[in-house]
Amino acid sequence: MSASGQGVTGTIFDIDTFAVHDGPGVRMAVYLKGCPLGCRWCHSPESQDPRPELVFLADRCVACGRCVEVCPHGVHSVSDRGHELARRACRACFACVSACPADALRAVGRRVAAGAIVGKAGRLKPFFGHGGGGVTLTGGEVTAQPAFAAAILRGCRESGIHTAIETCGACPWDVLAPLAALSDLVLYDLKFVDGGLHRRHTGADNAAILDNARRLAGFNTVVRVPLIPGLTDTDANLDAIFAFMRGAGLSRVELLPYNPAAAAKYEWLGRPYGLAGAQPSPGRLAEAARRARAAGLDCHA
Ligand code: SF4
Ligand code: SF4
Repeated sequence: MSASGQGVTGTIFDIDTFAVHDGPGVRMAVYLKGCPLGCRWCHSPESQDPRPELVFLADRCVACGRCVEVCPHGVHSVSDRGHELARRACRACFACVSACPADALRAVGRRVAAGAIVGKAGRLKPFFGHGGGGVTLTGGEVTAQPAFAAAILRGCRESGIHTAIETCGACPWDVLAPLAALSDLVLYDLKFVDGGLHRRHTGADNAAILDNARRLAGFNTVVRVPLIPGLTDTDANLDAIFAFMRGAGLSRVELLPYNPAAAAKYEWLGRPYGLAGAQPSPGRLAEAARRARAAGLDCHA
């Protein structure tokens, strides 16, 4: 393996060594931290901030007060009101994580060298099997750490490992293109074609996202659409996405059912959840798949 670029470091928040939903076969999924979008339904809110951060699992806390003693910034307080956190004062030193005897405090996010990821992938290569398995970089947003992502993809390529990226595409084409070129598969997330809806529900414009999608027609690309109840899963939005794909020369779409289990993660981070109480609509997945196929797309649901 070339040593080129393998010392580049980035911030990740997880590695799944048995991922089966992010590309073909059994894969090692690497979750990069940081995302330019703020989707109301994001199922990985711990991925959004590019910096390492603290999560607090209130149901594990035994109110021993050790975190209060060790925190140099006065973030924690334990009283008859319970355990409260002044999160804005937190400097992510994680002294409280080490001190907690109940595993109620955890650090999310760590710096790691690209070479360490490639080395781990190389050791797992025999387990990727014959189903086309390999490595998928996801997040968070892979294009938010382009040098780190490129170094991993290049190292995997040089080791004969299948590479994939999952991206929201919210970046200049000059950033995405080199990563797509290093990937055997691009999983491309589309939420809305309508710019106003996109801004309202993700906090960002989608002009670059749609432009990048058109350019990805020349790559091995699968579009992914999350079915968010009442938001992205409406007939009008789905039909608009499918028509856009046809016009852009993108033929393969994967539909992702809504997962309400993410709500707990928002509690751990002390953030409100924008979709509290939402549930997947019965039959919506089948109907969405029917509409995709009627639009002439190759649909995996
Ligand atoms: S991570 Fe550090 S600064 Fe943040 S609450 Fe824990 S001890 Fe305090
Ligand atoms: S150290 Fe852990 S168990 Fe003790 S008060 Fe802090 S969070 Fe709760």
